Amino acid sequence: MANFKMHLGVAAIGSGMVATLCLGAGLASVQEVAILSLLGTIGGLLPDIDLDHSTPTRLMFTALGLLLAFLAMFFKAAHYSVLELWLVWGATYLAVRYLAWRMFSDLTSHRGIFHSLAAALFFCFLGTAIAYHQFDAPRLTAWLVGFFLLLGYIIHLALDEIYSVDFENRRLKRSFGTALKLIDSRHLNNSGMMLGFVLLLFFMTPDFSPVTDALSNANTWQQLGSHLLPQGTWFAL
Ligand SMILES: [Zn+2]
Repeated sequence: MANFKMHLGVAAIGSGMVATLCLGAGLASVQEVAILSLLGTIGGLLPDIDLDHSTPTRLMFTALGLLLAFLAMFFKAAHYSVLELWLVWGATYLAVRYLAWRMFSDLTSHRGIFHSLAAALFFCFLGTAIAYHQFDAPRLTAWLVGFFLLLGYIIHLALDEIYSVDFENRRLKRSFGTALKLIDSRHLNNSGMMLGFVLLLFFMTPDFSPVTDALSNANTWQQLGSHLLPQGTWFAL
């Protein structure tokens, strides 16, 4: 199994390179490229949230708890007193960090449904829907958010599979086939639930046509082609 550092490094390099291609093709701005690379890197760590007591999992739930606690507080800020706001903040944080984490770790098993292409699609659609509805991102940018989460996620699953090949003894370890799979065939109800969420989220994503338009536009490829290699001297200002 690939370790945390390996996942972090490969996802960061992979998504940074693809994000730079998007910049060259004129699909994303410099600021967006920074955010997309970060999202791809996060996507590369996400599948291991099913490792119950690992540092990344705890960090992820702590960050999520803080984020939701602040959001909950902001939404109530106009109506409640300071004391009430403190209580809202604290209750939300504790609910996410301990209650949700507990439920999550009881429900998931390592290399279960979160190591599957269904889960990769889940995070892709979730990211796209949040970017579009919550952050008012244009449709193309919203889809790019989803694609970078998907890209990082698939890099993670592929790395796990590569590490289950024992190159020295030229044989497959028992973990082979447990990462890059469509669904978790050992836990069919978890898989069914995940597919249900994937379908639900799909209906919340915006129209896909800006993506197909950009990809079928000759201008996109022309821009990418002209930006791919230096024109004249390297690193000339
Ligand atoms: Zn993994």
